[in-house]
Parts: sequence; C-alpha cells; structure tokens
Amino acid sequence: MSYSKSEVDLYVGLNKKGNVEVRRLPSRAEYSEQTPRDLPVQLVAQVHKALVQLRSFPNGRQHLLWISPGINDLYEVSPEELASDPVRLIERIHPEDRDAFLSHWLKCQKTPTPFDSEFRVVLPGERESVFHCQMAPEQQTDKSIIWHGVVIDVSEQKADETRMQIARELYQHNQQGLVILSPRGKILNVNDTFTKLTGFTREESVGKTSKILRSKLYPPSFYETMWASLEANGRWEGEFNERRKDGTLCPQWLTISGIHDADGKVSHWVAQFFDISQIKEAEDIIWRQANYDDLTELPNRRMFFDRLGQAIKTLHRTNRQIALFSIDLDHFKTVNDTLGHAVGDELLVQAGVRIMKCIREGDTLARFGGDEFVIFIEYSRLSIIERIAGNILEALSQPFELGQERVFLGGSIGISVYPRDADSINGMLRCADQAMYAAKQRGRNCFEYFTPSMQAAARQRMQMINELRQALEKEQLWVAYQPIIDLGNRRIVKAEALVRWQHPVMGEVSPVNFIPLAEDTGLIMAIGEFVLSAVAQQLAQWREMYPGDFQISVNVSPIQLQSNDRPVFDYWEQCIESHGLSGSDITMEITEGLLLNERPEVKQQLLAFRNAGIEVAVDDFGTGYSSLSYLKKLHIDYLKIDRSFVHQLESDNDDMAVCEAIIVMAGKLGLQVIAEGIETEQQMSLLKSAGCDFGQGYLFSKPVNAESFGELLGKRQL
Ligand code: C2E
Ligand code: MG
Ligand code: MG
Repeated sequence: MSYSKSEVDLYVGLNKKGNVEVRRLPSRAEYSEQTPRDLPVQLVAQVHKALVQLRSFPNGRQHLLWISPGINDLYEVSPEELASDPVRLIERIHPEDRDAFLSHWLKCQKTPTPFDSEFRVVLPGERESVFHCQMAPEQQTDKSIIWHGVVIDVSEQKADETRMQIARELYQHNQQGLVILSPRGKILNVNDTFTKLTGFTREESVGKTSKILRSKLYPPSFYETMWASLEANGRWEGEFNERRKDGTLCPQWLTISGIHDADGKVSHWVAQFFDISQIKEAEDIIWRQANYDDLTELPNRRMFFDRLGQAIKTLHRTNRQIALFSIDLDHFKTVNDTLGHAVGDELLVQAGVRIMKCIREGDTLARFGGDEFVIFIEYSRLSIIERIAGNILEALSQPFELGQERVFLGGSIGISVYPRDADSINGMLRCADQAMYAAKQRGRNCFEYFTPSMQAAARQRMQMINELRQALEKEQLWVAYQPIIDLGNRRIVKAEALVRWQHPVMGEVSPVNFIPLAEDTGLIMAIGEFVLSAVAQQLAQWREMYPGDFQISVNVSPIQLQSNDRPVFDYWEQCIESHGLSGSDITMEITEGLLLNERPEVKQQLLAFRNAGIEVAVDDFGTGYSSLSYLKKLHIDYLKIDRSFVHQLESDNDDMAVCEAIIVMAGKLGLQVIAEGIETEQQMSLLKSAGCDFGQGYLFSKPVNAESFGELLGKRQL
C-alpha cells in the first residue's frame, strides 16, 4: 500500500475577526515519519470511499498523513496532488457549506470529539456531489491529534431520499384520493384526501377490503367485470359511485392501475379518484336549464320534441295513437297586464300544477313560454282524450287565488292526432294550434279537434253523455227480460235483465252504444244501481205471483267492480235484503277479462258475492282471454257461450268443436253452461246433444218488458 509524503501542511484556525482561516504551511520532515496505521485492505480498495489519516496540532497546523487512492474517485484529485496541495480538499467544498464544515472541525479538535459532517462539493465541470465525512480522534502525548477518518459519496442516497420525500408529499397531500391495495384487494394505505372524500380514516380502512366502499348501485357482476379487466389489462378507468362512511354516494372518476414486480406480476394496485359530484351537479343544472322551463319546472319545447319524437318512433309497436293538446289560458293577458308579471307568473305555476294533475303518468306536459301549455298522450280510446280534456277544462275553470285576488280564467284546448292529422311534430303543433283557435272562437272553455269528422263525433258523444245523464232522471231507462230455458225440458228457469234506453228522438238506443259511454263517464255506477233495484223490485213481485224457482241474472261492468268508493257488493247486499230476497235469487254476469284483473279489491268483491250465495256467470265466454285457474279459484258457477259461436253452428264445423270443448271443460270444473243467441231448432238440438245445460235466444223469446215476461212466466214452458 502506497501513500504520499505530505510536502505541505494546512493551517485551519480563526483569524482576528473570528472567521475560519485556511493557509498553507511548509511541512516538516518529522511529521512525515509517522506511518499510517494498518488498515484492512478490502476497505481501502473500495471505491467511492476515501480513508484518511490526519494529524492536527493545537496551533492550527493540519498535517495530512495519508489518504487512500479512493479520493481520486471522490474528489477527482490524486493522493499525490493532495500531498503537494492539501488545500484543494477544502477548496472543493461548496462555498455555502465550507464555513460550517471548518467551524465544526475546529470545535471537534478542541474537545476533542468525533467529527461528523455532511457537505456538498463542487467537482470540475460544476458537478455537485454530497459527501459524508466521519473522523475519530486519537489524542497524542504532544497534544496533537491523529484523526482516522472516512469520506463517502452519499449523493445517490441523498437523491433517493429527496425523491422519496417528494413522493411521500405527493402521495399524502395529493388532490386525488389514493388507495394502495394488495393484489387481492386489501387496503394497505390511504392518503388524507381519501379520508376527506370518503370519511373513512386510515385506521378504519387499512386492513379491510375495498368492499367497505361498495355502494348498492352496482350488481356483483359489475365488480367481477372490473376485476377481470384489471387482470387482463392492468388498468381500469371510469365513472364510479362509492359509498361514503355516512352512507351517501361519492361520485368520482376512478383510475386503478397495477404496479408490477420484477417477474411482471402485480404486486400492488393503486386506485386514484377525484370527486366529480360538483361536475355532476353542474351537468345536472345545465341539463335542467336546457330541458326545463325555469318558472314552472315543466319540460320545455326541446324536451317535449325529444320525448314526442321517441314516442312516435315506438308507436308502430302498439295499436295506439298520439294526441297533442295545445292549451291556452283564456284571459291570461288581461291578468298579466292588470295585476303585473309577478302575479301572472304565479298564475302560470298554479295552472301548470292543475293541468299536471289531470294527465296520467307517462303523458308529457310542457310549457313553451307565455301561457302556451302543450301535452301529448298516447291513447287507445278516444274517450281517454276527452276525459283528460274535460278534466283540464274543469280544473282551469276553478278560481285561482293570487295573493289578495281571486281570478276566474278557463282555458281553450285544440287537439290534433298523429298520424291522422299530420305526420310530423311541427305539423301536429300547427293543427293543434288551429283547433285551439277554433275552440276560442266557439266561446272558450271548450276543446276542439283538428279533424272535422272527429269533432263531429266528439260533439255527438258529448251530447249523448249529457242526455244519458238526464235519462236516469227523466226515467227513460227501463229493464227488459229475456228468458233462459232448461234445454232438457224447455222450461223457463232463469232470465237475463237487459237495460234499455227509450230516447225521445232516437227511439230505443242499444246498450251496445250507451254502456261504453256510461263506463267512460262513471255513469255506469248509477245505471247499475238502477237496473239492480228494478230487478229486485220486480222479482219480489213475481215471487208472490208465480211460485217456483227461478233466477234473474244482472250484467255488471268491470268498472263497477273496480270502484273503491262505492263497492257494488254493499249495494247488492242491501238491495236484496230490503226486498226480502236471498242471494241465490240474483246471478251476476261478469266478463272474462275481469278474471285476469290483478287488483285485490276486484277479487275481494267477487269472493264477497260468492259468500253471500250470489252465483256468478262469465258472459261472452270464448271471446276474450280467460284464466282457467281463476274459474276454479273464484268459484264461478256458469259459463255463457258467446253467441258468435252459436250463430253459425253446424254439426261438423269449428264452432261446434269450440262449443263442445267449452261444455266438456265446464263439466270437468263443475260449472254449468248457458248458450246465448240460439235462433234455430238446429242450433238448439246440437247444443243439447253436446250436453249444454241452458239456452237463451230469439228461438225462445226476444228480450221483452216486465209485463210480457210475467205472462211467459205464467206459462213456464217455451
Ligand atoms: P249480453 O250480456 O251478452 O247480452 C246478450 C245480448 O244478446 C243482448 O243484447 C240480447 O238482446 C242479445 N241476444 C239475445 N238473444 C239473441 C239472439 O238470439 N240473437 C241475437 N243476435 N242477439 C241475441 P242487448 O240487449 O243489446 O245487450 C247488449 C250488451 O249490453 C249485453 O250483452 C251486455 O253486455 C250489455 N248490457 C245490457 N244490459 C246491461 C246492464 O244492465 N248492465 C251492463 N253493465 N251491461 C248491460
Ligand atoms: Mg249478459
Ligand atoms: Mg253475452
């Protein structure tokens, strides 16, 4: 091992001003005789480390005894160069660190204590490195100190530390929520933002799985797909809703990416997310502003066009049509001009609320501005349009309370129909507007169709409805009876009560024409009660005049059985009782469709009839849908084969097959069968031979008035 003899020593001490001073001193031969201590060879050979031995004297003299070749790698000066000019050791120290280094060195010499310092050096080419120097003192008898030391380049380590520090800062104080997960989804670490956004502290989340953040919004399959994509691509990104600690949702943009180990396997998942609730809220506000009317919060023109466009596109899949209403508030301008815009606005809001209550879920009401309200509805029956239009007019004709004022308005409605009147939205709007002006001209507070023939039909319907309303009061309704006979012996065992309307001008109006109107308007309730009480009264009389068993059947509309506020059963029970009759005297005829009605009140009522001993017949059987299981469950007693099957009955045709099938099935279910509309002897004998129990039709008798039926009852045999 070689070492250079120092030719120059250093002086390190304080000058008069108290600053550290470094000077060169010529070395003395006697110091150089001192040889370095033995050093482990391997240690010396290590690069990036320099071993050093130095002798310092109380007078400030510093004699470099020996420095290992490693100094060349660190300082880029050879031990030989240092031997001739050791000041370079000090010169290369960064000017900002130099004083601190030397002061510390002097202090350690005084005590003496081990020297330990980290400092920057500036190498040729302005390159900076960080060195760490440690020296241990060995006190000599002549008060000098021999220092044994090591200098290490710690630049890399320092840079790493700084990088780590930056990474730590970035992680902890990131504006994004960060979660480090194990490959199996266990939470290993979270940052402050995570806690701020989710409410879960570090302690509450570390060690748990990411399931603590799951909202109930997504099915398990969603998470399975997400993990599958992570496994395949190492990354997943998307909009996502997590659950906060308080249960609320945290809408966020989430990115999950994998960190891979040396083998390419995922060692960690890093999930980063930022809160997008404000963005969502803003989007929502923008969307609402674009699609809704500010004042009434109803859809605006744009939303209306959008929805109507959609409805038109899907219309061909249904057997429906679309009606567009253009509604105008009568006298709105006067209110606005006289009471001011604020009152006008309030009026529009209230009108919007009232109209809204008249339409059904799925119908769209929009405000296009001013007092222009527009509706579109999908319908299958004209009566729906007219009911809605009537209700709106009724609602708008009620007084509006506006602050101190009470205002009477009313409205006018124009109606166009797609595709009949126009095949585009704008076309429909134009037609509806025209119809609306026509309504205004006709005298306001009414509605008008665009198409004249529809308008004429609507007017006729309205007139019929008005007249039907009065028909009850004016006693124009009466009940006819049509006998039902036992096919075995042709004796009258039952009769069906059929309502008749004796119109002063039109003559006898068929129930086929007025029952649907009565159903649409709710008049059916009053008509049904009229028929039943007429039947009960008549039956009580006949019971006294014509002893023997017979029943009268009364038709009941599905609408009657669906009414909650006026249960039909209560009326029947009271009516039967007050006329001294029993439940088995009157049979109820219902339609097939009713059996499929899901409403519990319908079933309850049917069972109540059953419990009161009132028998039930299913009318017009075979024409609608029916459920065989309900026939049994609801204890039906009779099936009435619809007259359309009887009409063309031949011994070997399809109708015969249908009748036979119904009769066999009824037999198996324990029901009896009545055939309707028997007009010929042939039809009767075919039905009789097929096993049908009862028959009704013109062959035996048309429906007749009570007096005539009484005479038939007297004979009994037909
Ligand atoms: P429905 O209950 O099926 O009544 C039988 C209908 O067939 C009656 O028509 C009757 O006159 C007719 N008819 C009877 N025998 C023959 C025949 O041999 N040939 C032909 N071609 N027809 C025959 P109507 O009286 O016009 O009644 C029609 C429908 O009106 C009834 O059909 C029933 O659904 C309804 N209806 C009648 N009265 C009432 C009532 O009081 N309440 C309710 N809700 N509906 C009623
Ligand atoms: Mg009937
Ligand atoms: Mg029938």
